[in-house]
Amino acid sequence: MSTSITRSTCPYCGVGCGVLIETEGQQITGVRGDPDHPANNGRLCTKGTTLHLTATPELTRQTRLLQPLQRLTRQATPTPIDWDAALDLATDRFANTIATHGPDAVGFYISGQLLTEDYYVFNKLAKGLIGTNNVDTNSRLCMSSAVAGYKATLGADAPPACYDDVNHAACLFIVGSNAAYAHPVLFRRIEEAKKKNPGMKVIVADPRRTDTAELADLFLPIQPGSDVMLFHGLLHIMLWEGWIKADYIAAHTTGFDALKALVRECTPEHVAQVCGVPKEDIYTAAQWFATSHATLSLYCQGLNQSSSGTAKNATLINLHLATGQIGKPGAGPFSLTGQPNAMGGREVGGLANLLSAHRDLANPAHRAEVAALWGVADVPSKPGKTAVEMFQAAADGEIKALWIACTNPAQSMPDQATVRRALERAEFVVVQEAYASAATCDFADLLLPATTWGEKEGTVTNSERRISRVRAAVPAPGEARHDWRTVVDFAQRLEGTLRPGLPTLFPYPDAESIWLEHRESTRGRDLDITGLSWPMLDAQGPQQWPLREGETQGQVRLYADGIFPTADGKARFAALPWQPLAEPRDSRYPFSLTTGRLRDQWHGMTRTGTIGRLFGHVAEPAVQLHPQDMERRGLTEGDLVHVTSKRGSIVLPVQASKETGLSQAFIAMHWGAEYLSGRGSNGEPLAGVNALTTSAHCPTSKQPELKHAAVKILKA
Ligand code: SF4
Repeated sequence: MSTSITRSTCPYCGVGCGVLIETEGQQITGVRGDPDHPANNGRLCTKGTTLHLTATPELTRQTRLLQPLQRLTRQATPTPIDWDAALDLATDRFANTIATHGPDAVGFYISGQLLTEDYYVFNKLAKGLIGTNNVDTNSRLCMSSAVAGYKATLGADAPPACYDDVNHAACLFIVGSNAAYAHPVLFRRIEEAKKKNPGMKVIVADPRRTDTAELADLFLPIQPGSDVMLFHGLLHIMLWEGWIKADYIAAHTTGFDALKALVRECTPEHVAQVCGVPKEDIYTAAQWFATSHATLSLYCQGLNQSSSGTAKNATLINLHLATGQIGKPGAGPFSLTGQPNAMGGREVGGLANLLSAHRDLANPAHRAEVAALWGVADVPSKPGKTAVEMFQAAADGEIKALWIACTNPAQSMPDQATVRRALERAEFVVVQEAYASAATCDFADLLLPATTWGEKEGTVTNSERRISRVRAAVPAPGEARHDWRTVVDFAQRLEGTLRPGLPTLFPYPDAESIWLEHRESTRGRDLDITGLSWPMLDAQGPQQWPLREGETQGQVRLYADGIFPTADGKARFAALPWQPLAEPRDSRYPFSLTTGRLRDQWHGMTRTGTIGRLFGHVAEPAVQLHPQDMERRGLTEGDLVHVTSKRGSIVLPVQASKETGLSQAFIAMHWGAEYLSGRGSNGEPLAGVNALTTSAHCPTSKQPELKHAAVKILKA
């Protein structure tokens, strides 16, 4: 049988690597890196190279949801139901809830792994048809602090740099990112750039000495939550030494005086004490950052997943503005997207506080523009519930019907006890999902099987604003449907109740027709893609936005002209003070728990956990402690310990690790109930590290502090 090749995109991380899917007949038989994709130039990491193994017919039979299922009572085993009956049931339950309790009694919790077209129709369903802004996504757990940081300073949610900047940078400042594990193909690019240019300075700031830190010329093992103080301290030194660019500040920014006053007290001595790093190292970092001819900052969840997430992002961007390290090759703040399409979701406004094409829900003119585009009377002004708020509202009985798609909150949300209460108390829960093993499936009244990688058509956007096509190599298995199709089928039924007799708002025969509507929504906006088309993506490959009508290629980097998308065209300094952690360690809970990724696993392991070889790197869960902490507590390698926070407790083996700082503990985020069980503070069964984490969140971005919880550790 001959082998066919389909060009597509890896579904795992925000690097957005191009893949060539090999198929024989209707089976995926192999995967290779796409040599023509600019994100990876043919490379793939271990997760990417094993993608085809997750799509074998045998695994598909074992792991996938292949038909709609209904659970008649919460304890019952789900039984098959046909698609029409399933969609009718969902429509009846949602329509009744809306009629009885109002549109805000329903909520949609979706995913940065959905394609842009899926995201678009979910957003339109909630905000355009139903009239609620209760649509939020696991991107809230991923990038919402980056969004808020960009908007507060540069005026728009637009990462200004690109991957190629790694090759032009003279100084790399990597903070709150273990790119070696979370963005491996980008990290290979960094390693190569360093090899070619040994003079390039690499600074890594992170509480853990990760594999990424091994590349550093200067490692700053900062205390968890001290990032803002570090950034203010760096600026204090830059000011003192005259390393700031006064002419750039005067010409292109506002608000510097307030920031200057704020950082006056952030002396090297004070900052060294709060951050737990020598003041000489802080001085060196400030010097390298400010005086290199091009400094690029790369950052990820260490800044975002924080109760000060917006402040961390914005105060790092302050440094780039103060030193003019932006808008030129090799320079700029560059947030690394966690998920494959968290950017695409933001582009269509798929968050509770956003609207299509980077419009703001709070702006009446923006609401009117979107209402006109959609052909509806208005878009509601009341802000929707963000992820943590949505599950709290369901736990409190305020949200009564939940629709969850392509994400697994029963494992991935912080404070699992509350999430469990929410899923149990909600009167009707729809789970639209590809994998039967997702923990959230256990709480569903209705399970709708979804297509996934290798089966879907659409687009995604990676960290550098590059839009890539996702293409189907094989047909949908069983009765699985594309996510956008399910939403459209449901929406058209609901229209029969909510706007009878009117033309449908969802007239889409295919994913491309949805994308074309999205494209039109971007006209005149910062992310304008009116010059892009699917045929152009086919012919010329992935493109960066903006790409306006009449242009032949996208914009490689932003703000080279020093003009920012603000009312006066100037960037704004953020004079935001350092705030302590939401839950600092104390005598009862004396360890700082941090969480993070393993190299070879992805999220809740529904996909990667099916591949034996991906356990070769790390085979089982463990809590990592510094050897001195283990010795002090009489623990030896492999001892079982209770790790307990105010919310729950889990049992797992202890592992000595010099990567982990004193009084700190690290547990990987991926392990679910199969590997890591525990109990909530009321004795209820919980699983995974999020039994321990807190839902305390940034007041601006509403992103929860998944990166820190205070815990105690006792021998089991
Ligand atoms: Fe996939 Fe990310 Fe690995 Fe690239 S780096 S192959 S996008 S997981």
